[in-house]
This record gives sequence, structure tokens and C-alpha cells, in this order.
Amino acid sequence: MATCLHNKILIIEDDQGISNFLKTTVTAAGYDTIIAGDGKTALQMVTSHCPDCILLDLGLPDMDGSTIIQSVRSWTHTPIIVISARSMEEDKAAALDNGADDYITKPFGTVELLARIRTALRHTRTMSENGEIRQNGSYHIGELEIDYKKMRVLRNGNDVHLTPNEFRIVALLGKHAGRVMTYKSILRELWGPAASLDNKILRVHMASIRRKIEPNPNEPRYIFTEVGVGYRMAENEENKE
Ligand code: CA
Repeated sequence: MATCLHNKILIIEDDQGISNFLKTTVTAAGYDTIIAGDGKTALQMVTSHCPDCILLDLGLPDMDGSTIIQSVRSWTHTPIIVISARSMEEDKAAALDNGADDYITKPFGTVELLARIRTALRHTRTMSENGEIRQNGSYHIGELEIDYKKMRVLRNGNDVHLTPNEFRIVALLGKHAGRVMTYKSILRELWGPAASLDNKILRVHMASIRRKIEPNPNEPRYIFTEVGVGYRMAENEENKE
């Protein structure tokens, strides 16, 4: 088996302009790239090239992006970052629930794209577990600390007094820091597969959480809303490479 010095990124995109932009950006950052312009080629390349990360445009000429996600997920955990148009929020949530790891919305900048790729690659290596939590039983970001053992959240060292449900939401987002979690996946994770998929309950909890943990609840620094999709907790800067 050939050894690779660089992480290899598979770009699945039929728009030549966008795929050129992606290739240039990703190559400049030191990754190797391979490109597929349609779904059939893409699936062949996943098996023959074993990419470390996949960038996937949902709108391909021959295949629905969700078909590709399901097919890839049936046999590998290779991270998939969906590239989608701004108007397709429901598709983004469905893609994540189908097994995609993250998404990025067109138009996007190079900094954002590379940050998402780094996060996706890091989560593969740590098998989706947050390394800081496993090591210390806690997660730090800015002036915030999630203490998993004592089940509490501290801001500047002071307990912010979350309710048990609020703590569970923050704890879950902290475990997946840097990645978006859909409303559906949060509800299912916390309240089981039979959970009502009413997002309203999450929005109510989140408003209360933000009043307690955010310096300015209207401009969150710790938990971001991904409109129409879910929430994403910020990553600890020190963990970034
Ligand atoms: Ca397309």
C-alpha cells in the first residue's frame, strides 16, 4: 500500500469554476487533490483513491448528493463536507442526518473552507471524541468551561447554573465542538429516537443557555446558530493546528 505524506482531498463538483477554486485553495494549503465531476466517477474514486476527506457538491448531473453520502457511509467513515447553495437549508440538514460531517455554504472564503477541512480531519483521527474532554474531563473555550464530571458549566470560574436539560445540550455540543449538529440529531441524542422533532423546545433552551453563558446573547461567541439546520459550538483555539 502506498504511503501518503499529505492528506488527500476528493473534490466532487461539476461546476468547473468552483472545482478549480477548491483545488487551488486546498493545494496551496498543502493537501493533495483529486477531482470528480459526476457521482459515478466520484464513487469509483472513493474506492480506488481512499481520500482522507471529501468535499461534495449536492447538485450533481447524474446523481443526488444524498445517494453519494449514503453509499460512502455504508462502508467508510471518511469525512464528508457538503458544499451547498444558500437556499438549500433543508438539504443541508438532511445531508448531515444522512452521515455528512459538515457543510459549507456558497459563496465561502478560503479561511472558512480550510478550517472546516482541518476540523473534519481532526475528528477522524480522534474518532469523533473530543480529545480535551477525554483527557481532562472538561472542555475550555474562552472564559467558558464545561466540567463533564461535575455536570456544570463555569464562566470565569463561576457556575452559570444551567438546568439539567440545558447542561445536556451544552455538553453534547461541546463533545462535537467545531461541527454543526442538526436539530434532529440533538433531539434524538438527548431524548431518544422517539423524541418529538419540534425545534421549538431547543430554541427555548438555547435562549436561556445564551443568557447564562454568552457575554452578549445577541452576538453569540460560544454557540452559533446555523440557520435552519442546527447549532455549532466554537472550537478551543488551542486545539487548532
Ligand atoms: Ca453542481
